[in-house]
Amino acid sequence: MKLEIPASCRTEPMKVLLTGAAGFLGSHLAEALVGMGHDVTGVDSLITGARENLRSLENNPHFRLIEHDLAAGLPAEVAAGQYQRIWHLASPASPVGYVKHQVITLKVNAMATIALLELAQRCKARMFIASTSECYGDPLEHPQRETYWGHVNPVGMRSMYDEAKRFMEAATMAYHRERGVDTRIVRIFNTYGPRLAIDDGRVVVAFIKQSLKGEPLTVQGDGSQTRSLCYVEDEIRGFIMLMELQPYHLPVNIGNPDEVTVLQLAEEIRELVGSKSEIIRMPLPPDDPRQRCPDITLAKNLLQWTPVVNRREGLKRTIEYYRKKIQA
Ligand code: UDP
Repeated sequence: MKLEIPASCRTEPMKVLLTGAAGFLGSHLAEALVGMGHDVTGVDSLITGARENLRSLENNPHFRLIEHDLAAGLPAEVAAGQYQRIWHLASPASPVGYVKHQVITLKVNAMATIALLELAQRCKARMFIASTSECYGDPLEHPQRETYWGHVNPVGMRSMYDEAKRFMEAATMAYHRERGVDTRIVRIFNTYGPRLAIDDGRVVVAFIKQSLKGEPLTVQGDGSQTRSLCYVEDEIRGFIMLMELQPYHLPVNIGNPDEVTVLQLAEEIRELVGSKSEIIRMPLPPDDPRQRCPDITLAKNLLQWTPVVNRREGLKRTIEYYRKKIQA
């Protein structure tokens, strides 16, 4: 992946801690940070991430991975470490992943966030937390602005993720306001691209895999629910710009407002793959948001960030990656 990072984000080489480094977003971010000259320590439990996502950094002296479950606390050497930047991306992030790992999801977003904020305070590090559009729940405001408080079921089948992420935001604001920690909060909307786990049920990869294998495409519900899809390169560039460009501490949406229904997405992916798969209907999972689309006015004004990879182009690149992976 070739990321165009604005020159204004360049700094002296720094010591960086990155949790969730072996995940989809974490691994792309790790490559970008090492590419910018930083020295990166990654932490990942590998429950939903994979070592192979980090293959390009395997023998790189500026990257190391500590295999560790943050739900059990920080690794001793991390707790004693000295960092200038801390990125907290560790968490199961798909509906399949967080329902399978409910307690870990709660702990890694709540307790590990507190532990990392304490570490950031001690190190005087700048800390970035990966929050989510799930904070808006099944939104009654559309598109979603950062000022919208959300419509979340606190005991539903997404609550272990949604409420943990909302707690994470609250904790981050408290450490910023009371203890002066220099924090950044991103709300990530649906992001896709190479390295999304192939079997965790997320819609883009599910449809690509099904199309490539000639299996039926499983549209849940009537397929009229919407998502807005951001290509991973755009998302990672947004993260780095948010971290480096402005001392802004409230949440910022980073996502692509290009909204599509799930049915339209199934048809598009099938066509781009050149597949003859049929489209079948499956039950809609509980608490599935009806619509989701970021208002990115804030990111545009604050950071001059805007996504540049359109859906067709991003899907083509993603399909090529999975075509090779499935053939291998
Ligand atoms: N979805 C679908 N078929 C699938 C997987 C997902 O129709 O095989 C739908 C799902 O019901 C939801 C949307 O696609 O409305 C996005 O689901 P995903 O799991 O990717 O993430 P979410 O945005 O819900 O967290």
